[in-house]
Amino acid sequence: LVPALAGRVGVVTGASSGMGAATAELLAAQGVKVALLARRAHELDALAEKITTAGGTALSVPLDLTDVAAVHAAAAQVRTRLGRPSIVFNNAGIMLPSSVEGLHDQRWRRQIDLNVTAAVTTAAAFVTDLVAAAAEGGPADLITTSSVAAKRIVPSFAVYSATKAFLTHFTHQLRAELGPRNVRVSVIEPGIVSTELWSTGADRTTQEWYAKASEHIEPLRPADIAEIVVYTVGLPKHVNLQQIAVMPTRQA
Ligand code: NDP
Repeated sequence: LVPALAGRVGVVTGASSGMGAATAELLAAQGVKVALLARRAHELDALAEKITTAGGTALSVPLDLTDVAAVHAAAAQVRTRLGRPSIVFNNAGIMLPSSVEGLHDQRWRRQIDLNVTAAVTTAAAFVTDLVAAAAEGGPADLITTSSVAAKRIVPSFAVYSATKAFLTHFTHQLRAELGPRNVRVSVIEPGIVSTELWSTGADRTTQEWYAKASEHIEPLRPADIAEIVVYTVGLPKHVNLQQIAVMPTRQA
């Protein structure tokens, strides 16, 4: 157990699958009371029950993160039911690759609405909690999931990559304001992780690329990301891992 974590309250967005679900579970195993945010209530309820059965504390909060009022209502609900959050894993995201010609179909807008706008909304909804937690002398963490895509030039990924570049830069900017107030702000940039991201919205070309890549590259697992988040929030509070690029060993 990481001693600094027990009793803290954590918010995890995108907690219904992939790295969000794995991270929520591992945080809960360390004694963090976790709020699980995503749209699919059934998955959130099942994870909350799993965590509770294992002796942890979890609150299922189904919502669409692109609904600003719903995010602020969720923040109020978390404060009432679990207490003031001091960990926010700002992680929900979608990847909908599209050629330039395909940009007419509005799929690009869904990526900006979630990966950019909802991520900023989430940070805004919880920033006062993080500042207050730090002002009381405790650790406070805002961790955002960007991607290695933030820096890569890949056909059909113009919008997705741009949303991730936004998140990396947004995080660095936030450090300038929140760091002096003792809130740690971190960004994680993973390479390939085996999650639903590669099947939910990906086009056939991307799915085929992933299947082929997975034959010679062992992808990261959601649990690998969870370990990194737990390590990051468990560090002494004067230490801020500001940017974490984590790759499968065989991915160039
Ligand atoms: P998943 O598809 O498993 O997780 C995405 C999560 O986002 C789900 O829990 C989904 O839940 C949630 N979500 C999607 N839309 C909304 C919405 N409108 N409102 C609320 N929640 C929403 O994929 P990953 O775990 O891979 O993705 C997590 C993050 O990691 C993303 O930001 C992704 O861009 C990033 N990433 C992924 C990589 C990979 O290789 N997998 C590599 C680098 C970065 P629900 O559908 O229930 O709403």
